[in-house]
Amino acid sequence: MAVPQGTRAPVIFVLEPFGGSIRRNNPNLPFIFWDDAAVTRGDGVFETLLIRDGKAANLRRHAERFRSSARLLDMPEPDAEYWARATAEAAEAWVTERGEGVDAKCVWTYTRGRASTGFPSAWLVLSDIPQKTLDQRANGVKVMTTPRGFSVDTTLPGVDEVTRGGTGPGEERRVAPWLTVGAKTLNYAANMAALRWAHAHGTDDVIYVDPRDVHPDKGPRVLEGATSTVVLAKSKKRLRTPVPGGEVLPGTTQAALFEHAEAAGWRCKARDIYLRDLKTAESVWLVSSVRVAARVLSLDGKTLEVGGDPEEVRALIEGALGS
Ligand code: PLP
Repeated sequence: MAVPQGTRAPVIFVLEPFGGSIRRNNPNLPFIFWDDAAVTRGDGVFETLLIRDGKAANLRRHAERFRSSARLLDMPEPDAEYWARATAEAAEAWVTERGEGVDAKCVWTYTRGRASTGFPSAWLVLSDIPQKTLDQRANGVKVMTTPRGFSVDTTLPGVDEVTRGGTGPGEERRVAPWLTVGAKTLNYAANMAALRWAHAHGTDDVIYVDPRDVHPDKGPRVLEGATSTVVLAKSKKRLRTPVPGGEVLPGTTQAALFEHAEAAGWRCKARDIYLRDLKTAESVWLVSSVRVAARVLSLDGKTLEVGGDPEEVRALIEGALGS
């Protein structure tokens, strides 16, 4: 397949799983083995970070979720400082080669590793942000709602450590505690399939809803986007997001936004949100690390009315990235 115009070679660093050396890998040379669990099973965890002005945005929250995801998969905990050092080295190489001011997408990948050795594999890649992502950031997205296709009534140990959500201690609702919902695992094929489905139906993205939890007046409960957290702006400087934990991945962008917005005088809460709440909000956003914020323009073919000042909300989200 042709490399899209304007796309340049990524910066790849391979890490030793338990700390130690970090080495640059030529992107034309392979570094993953045929029996790596990432290849054979999609078994491992990842994080996607934004590199802005030569630095990783929201690094602490990404490192916390990375460790929490690894714990949920019973993998050895990654050393946050080591990953931060490797990221800083890669970001320095990026700035040297691309110049100041070019944002990058940074993906950390940490897999259960080779079946033959049992050692995890670890690497990170910095690459250009796809033009489509930048367009969606600037122009917004058309969204369709859909059930996720599976739902699990579960809470998982570790999720609460990175989120205010989840079920409290003592509540035993672990129907399938081995399921790694709540971890950011490499198993994203279903999310990508949902996006292809959205594109095939003339939209850009999906918002998952829970068909088991339908409010009599407000419709199904809202979960999250395929690769993003749903955030609503309401009148009187209020922000809302579905309660993270369980089936809703705790988003680092949403967490940074809420902390930043609270400090700026907004009132921010994680609550159960139903479909009609999206239609009555001043603005609806899909927030995530690299796309940052894409305003939802329409939902299931119906244009969403905009109220308040969406640019103020956007500025809050951009401002939160340094926190
Ligand atoms: N929910 C899902 C399922 C995701 O894949 C992502 C990010 O990729 C998010 C939410 C948003 O998380 P973050 O803000 O940390 O990028």
